[in-house]
Amino acid sequence: MTVSESPASPRWRTAAACAGLPPQIIFARREAEARPALEACRRCPVARRCEESVAPAESYFDGVSAGRLWRNGRLVRLHGHYVAPSHVALGGDASGGLARPA
Ligand code: SF4
Repeated sequence: MTVSESPASPRWRTAAACAGLPPQIIFARREAEARPALEACRRCPVARRCEESVAPAESYFDGVSAGRLWRNGRLVRLHGHYVAPSHVALGGDASGGLARPA
């Protein structure tokens, strides 16, 4: 028997490296404000799940997901490199947020 997840609070979020950071950091629109969340992404074990769930381009997302900063669903060019190694190994890019969504 499987246990369904609550869409409002899926279990993977409890493992997120950014758990506990204030929403204004996770949903920041500028790299300077988003940096603590972006740094958390580098060690996040659920980065791929985060990006799949948020679907930033499709949801016109503002904020941080999987080491990338999004504004209105478009990638923001970053100065730092924040992509989690686990995300890169699973098919993410290592460009530090410079890639275009598929
Ligand atoms: S990838 Fe980044 S934004 Fe997503 S859950 Fe992990 S730390 Fe948070």
